[in-house]
Amino acid sequence: MQQIHNIFTKSSLLKRAFVSTSKRNFSSASTRTPIVGGNWKLNAGNGTTYSTVEELVNGLNEAPAPTSNVEIVCAAPTLYLDRVNQTLDSSKFSVSAQNCFYENKGAYTGENSAVMLKDLNINWTLIGHSERRDIFHETDDMLERKITNALNEQVSVIACCGEHKEDRENGTTMNVLVPQLQAMANGVENSTSKSWDNVVIAYEPVWAIGTGLTATPEQAQETHANIRAWLRENVSESVANSVRIQYGGSVTDANAKELGNMPDIDGFLVGGASLDAGKFSAIYSAFD
Ligand code: PEP
Repeated sequence: MQQIHNIFTKSSLLKRAFVSTSKRNFSSASTRTPIVGGNWKLNAGNGTTYSTVEELVNGLNEAPAPTSNVEIVCAAPTLYLDRVNQTLDSSKFSVSAQNCFYENKGAYTGENSAVMLKDLNINWTLIGHSERRDIFHETDDMLERKITNALNEQVSVIACCGEHKEDRENGTTMNVLVPQLQAMANGVENSTSKSWDNVVIAYEPVWAIGTGLTATPEQAQETHANIRAWLRENVSESVANSVRIQYGGSVTDANAKELGNMPDIDGFLVGGASLDAGKFSAIYSAFD
């Protein structure tokens, strides 16, 4: 762990980027509304049946509402999306799918469609989570096409990117992130609106997901600033300034405040801790 924390990426892209580790300044640096996502993965809350999903939903509904303007999105397993969407307090939470295919209809066994999500009033989807990439072999090409299709159907996207442990240790983090970011940019560019308004980027170092290892606030900030620098150079100044970038990777109630203070961290994507209503509410309250 210490080794990972001590390594800084060295690519030329990193050198070009402006890196600031000063505290988040809501009055000037950021007019971006923080957004915190809970990725429940293939978990029925803390159990395996709908009864434990219901416990989580009830816990979230009873949890304190954020006192500041924080958007909260819960990505439930597909089979429970509709019921969660009907029971989770919509004044506090939106509901998201964890994946959504690039076609809306046809012979695609096992897939979700953006049109069907909209039909159920589900307005968000994660795209390109590293578990989709590593376990289900999703490619950047698929990420690109999925983003285009979701945006065309007015489903907002949390698009994920991240490097593996070896990439960080080799100093090639941005070399790995750039093709992933390019796929996001292509996906938006190919959509009807060409607008980034409904896209959130989740930066999730794969070595930090579900491992208990968290990027230090400085490491996360550095990479977020580099992602923003890439957007500035390759998309536009206004997109670089307005797109929200979440950090994901073993975020807990104990480290959320410090990470959330960083100027380019606009929220979190939370896995394990999102299955506990108390911990999750403490995490989104870090932005209060
Ligand atoms: C995730 O699944 O996106 C994630 C960040 O998981 P965890 O918080 O458990 O590391």
